[in-house]
Amino acid sequence: MGRTGLRMIIAGIIAIIAIVRFFTSQQVNPVTGEKQRVSLSTAQEIALGLQAAPQLAAQHGGESRDARRRAQVERVGARLLERSSAGKSPYRFRVHLLDDDRVVNAFALPGGQVFLTEAIAARMRTDAEIAGVLGHEIGHVIGRHGAEQLAKQQLIGGLGSSAVIAASDPSRPGSSEQSRHVAMLVGQLVNLQFGRDDELEADRLGVRFMSEAGYDPRAIIRVMEVLRDLARGRRQPEFFSTHPNPERRVERIQEAIRVQFPSGVPTGLER
Ligand SMILES: [Zn+2]
Repeated sequence: MGRTGLRMIIAGIIAIIAIVRFFTSQQVNPVTGEKQRVSLSTAQEIALGLQAAPQLAAQHGGESRDARRRAQVERVGARLLERSSAGKSPYRFRVHLLDDDRVVNAFALPGGQVFLTEAIAARMRTDAEIAGVLGHEIGHVIGRHGAEQLAKQQLIGGLGSSAVIAASDPSRPGSSEQSRHVAMLVGQLVNLQFGRDDELEADRLGVRFMSEAGYDPRAIIRVMEVLRDLARGRRQPEFFSTHPNPERRVERIQEAIRVQFPSGVPTGLER
């Protein structure tokens, strides 16, 4: 057998491993109880998120120099994590305020790196509204939506490379081939788009986390209204880009609030 034949067989085996890995990689999410296909370990998610964070921040002018507002978003983030079930997850969260005062948006990377632009933070009138945005982004992390999207992309694009990626540990740099794959993953992460179902789950988790942390979950509906008004103008907020139907989204959030508080939202929550 020639070298090419041997290489074909090895490539075939790698592809089969990738397919088997995808379909057997089902894990039960401890917070959501949902079964999901993810090929990254929690440690890999954290390491990849940390690696991608500077690139994502750079796309929005880097970290904000507004010390007062930075302190505000960090304080709200800390309270959400201290008082809600999100804080019991193994992820290492960090909230970044980005220096972008034009793009109204928020993002999350796998493993706990969460971002808000100055433009979205400036439109939030209360801590509870900021908690609404942060709760949604923390929901993407806990829901492992980034890792799920990567697992899908890996299955679609290069099966062979997925096996290498799955086997590599980004926290311990290995061969140059491995670091090339990690760089590719970082690129994918920075431009990641979540699906509609991911957005709805992040909304539900956000309602839960903000309620547990003592924030009135109805604040997220006010956030949606502010963003919807922006959408009516010329500038479409990207926070909405995967939601063609904001009215329906608000309905679903109201449902989630009823699930959280079946006998009505208690008084005394911070609004
Ligand atoms: Zn989202």
